[in-house]
Amino acid sequence: MALFDSNLASAAQDLAGGFGLAMVYYKNVDHLGHLYGPESEEIEREVQRVDRSLGLFTAALEELGIRDQTNVVLLTDHGIRLDKNIYSTQTKLY
Ligand SMILES: [Zn+2]
Repeated sequence: MALFDSNLASAAQDLAGGFGLAMVYYKNVDHLGHLYGPESEEIEREVQRVDRSLGLFTAALEELGIRDQTNVVLLTDHGIRLDKNIYSTQTKLY
């Protein structure tokens, strides 16, 4: 999580410095989902950690004076079927 927080802080600084786009990747939610399943306590704790990190990130954007002009978009690499506890390789855009 420390590296993720550090990468988010760097992204905030880069955006404040004029970058038009910054992308930060974090693999642990996906990784734990594969290991323990989508409704596991491990996933819940990790999502809470990511939520706290994103809170710090948006606070940094606020401090840098760019929060109102920054869109934060969260993406995932694939979906999951809760009924079968497997990850879907098919995707749809809605
Ligand atoms: Zn995956």
